[in-house]
This record gives sequence, C-alpha cells and structure tokens, in this order.
Amino acid sequence: MSTEVSDPQQRLEDRRRVSELLKKELQGFRCLVCKGIEFVELDEPEPGLQANFMYYEGNDPVARKRTPLVAIACTHCGRIEQFAEQPLMARVKAGNI
Ligand SMILES: [Zn+2]
Repeated sequence: MSTEVSDPQQRLEDRRRVSELLKKELQGFRCLVCKGIEFVELDEPEPGLQANFMYYEGNDPVARKRTPLVAIACTHCGRIEQFAEQPLMARVKAGNI
C-alpha cells in the first residue's frame, strides 16, 4: 500500500524538491501575524520522532495516506505554518512542478 521510497538518498532528493515546490507556492504569501514575506523551513525531525497524519485525497475516506508535515517559520515574528507533505510530494513524483 505504501509508495514510500526506502532509499534515504532518494528521500532527501524528493524532500528537497518538495521544499522548492513549496517555496514557489509561497510566492506572494504573507505571514498572517506580521505580514512578513520571508520564511525558513524547519528541519525535518528524525523519522522515529515524526508525527504522521492521515491525508485524504478528495473526500474519499479510503484513499488515505500517511504524511509527515512540512513546517516553515516566519523569519520576523516566528509564526509557524505547516503543510501536509503528501500533495506536494505527489506533484514532485508526477514531475508536475
Ligand atoms: Zn510573521
């Protein structure tokens, strides 16, 4: 069922591309607290310490996958925004970036 790649190098590369994609998505996004426009991505936790959430594709309760989160912090006020990795990773895998 899982389509996770076990190769850590591939995982790092895919995650790097997710970060690039998220940066593009954030063009024009302003911090909801201070209206800042600069964000830094927080380090991904160790695999054993990661919180994984169920992500539902569309409204189909069967089409669900575990996903880690991608977290960014506003460099001015520190507000944290989180994104489910799954939709971004799916686009990276599909070459749709
Ligand atoms: Zn801010």
